[in-house]
Amino acid sequence: MNRKSPELSIRQIAHYIDGREVAGASGRHSDVFDPALGNVAAQVALASVEEVDAAVAAARRAFPAWSETPPLKRARILFAFKALLDAHADEFAELITREHGKVFSDAKGEVTRGIEVVEFACAAPHLLKGQYSDQIGGGIDNFSLRQPLGVVAGITPFNFPFMVPLWMIPVALACGNTFVLKPSERDPSPSLLMAKLLKQAGLPDGVFNVVHGDKTAVDALIEHPEVVALSFVGSTPIAEYIYSHGTARGKRVQALGGAKNHLIVMPDADLDQAVDALIGAAYGSAGERCMAISVAVAVGDVADRLVDKLVPRIESLKIGSGLDASIEMGPLVTAAHREKVVGYIDAGVAEGAKLVVDGRGHVVAGHENGFFLGGTLFDHVTPEMKIHREEIFGPVLGIVRVPDFASAVELINAHEFGNGVSCYTSDGGVARAFARQIKCGMVGINVPIPVPMAWHSFGGWKRSLFGDAHIYGEEGVRFYTRYKSVMQRWPDSIAKGAQFTMPVAH
Ligand code: NAD
Repeated sequence: MNRKSPELSIRQIAHYIDGREVAGASGRHSDVFDPALGNVAAQVALASVEEVDAAVAAARRAFPAWSETPPLKRARILFAFKALLDAHADEFAELITREHGKVFSDAKGEVTRGIEVVEFACAAPHLLKGQYSDQIGGGIDNFSLRQPLGVVAGITPFNFPFMVPLWMIPVALACGNTFVLKPSERDPSPSLLMAKLLKQAGLPDGVFNVVHGDKTAVDALIEHPEVVALSFVGSTPIAEYIYSHGTARGKRVQALGGAKNHLIVMPDADLDQAVDALIGAAYGSAGERCMAISVAVAVGDVADRLVDKLVPRIESLKIGSGLDASIEMGPLVTAAHREKVVGYIDAGVAEGAKLVVDGRGHVVAGHENGFFLGGTLFDHVTPEMKIHREEIFGPVLGIVRVPDFASAVELINAHEFGNGVSCYTSDGGVARAFARQIKCGMVGINVPIPVPMAWHSFGGWKRSLFGDAHIYGEEGVRFYTRYKSVMQRWPDSIAKGAQFTMPVAH
């Protein structure tokens, strides 16, 4: 995939450093595909250590002024940015569809959910206002404030090239930090447009920078002593790597990893609603969502009825280019990723799961070279099978049959991941017990993809998140600030002489 010298005829995607586009100088590039056609649409520069250093240096220079800018003025820039994002929403969605493959309406949904975090961050003065205790002792007050960290970096995955960077950027900037983003090299264009719009909104040069790249760029950010915090979203092995290496160097790190999300179907669930939920959550975005449902847990006698209703829906999924408004499921992001998903389907067959609908070999007329797969369904999946243990990240749904609710909870709680989860039931007692007992960070009751709103926070449990803070919302504000407590007393009330006892209120 990496090439030594770019072909001149192909669009080149540059870095964005200190308020301007900077062509890649490392001589290393990566192909960016149009997944619906299967051809190379652009090439993105892969940064060298020196290019990462230049971005961090720009962010370091911009930090003193930006951190001193009143939060209200920072919020006004974010308001202007939000208006620009709204105005460019269709352009962003098209960029996403062209590089990622997801259908345009889904890309628009991603854009909306990203903009919501900008809206949240526009409350910067309120979010940062701290607490105050008057007269904690004679003439002494105690107040607390949250101050920015410095230069922070974000490293983001391919599957939400707009929304996931915006889980980080607006909150970090609202809090007074400066930012270096290393987006996914597979769909890098939305982040560049974002950088240009931030500048147009009035963001000073250097406050936000984009370096494209691979492991070299990520390692340079981990190693750089002036990068004080890292936010990562991506697969679990890389999340763990970034968390362990980042924290070993004294950085604050939040690293969100992979997932295996279960949806329990109780015998008393509205089956049509559960089927709608499974079809959308398993096959939407071709299963390339960290909140995709990839396991249906069929409780009691519901499994046969569930399979009967799922099969015709999967077989009739409208698959094709995401730019066609009638399409429900687009291609996978790259040929390599499609092959990986096919490998999982092969493994499921080899391990003895029942392949009910086989999406391998699905061809879309007119898009024969596109990275398409058909919707796939396995029944009789068991917990120890690879297709249950590992994240597939493709349009593959497995059904695990369990006898009762307790076994369903046990199955999910025993899994290594704990990102999202859902339960379809008409029994409030079951729903409440589920929400309390389940070991996952984000829980849906009759909701298939419970992505928290911008003023709550997003994050999984177990090996779906490394670090203490979930992302965006109030947890995001805490992550991007340092807490400080100040006690003040003015000279006319200062007691004479040194005090050698622990200060207590008088
Ligand atoms: P990935 O881990 O391959 O890549 C994520 C980022 O890490 C990219 O910017 C990539 O360039 C970089 N990277 C890749 N290999 C690296 C290496 N060896 N060293 C350093 N950096 C490296 O993930 P992806 O394939 O882009 O995205 C899909 C994954 O992200 C899935 O596992 C999905 O569940 C996860 N994800 C999780 C969440 C969440 O909130 N938990 C959200 C979205 C995606």
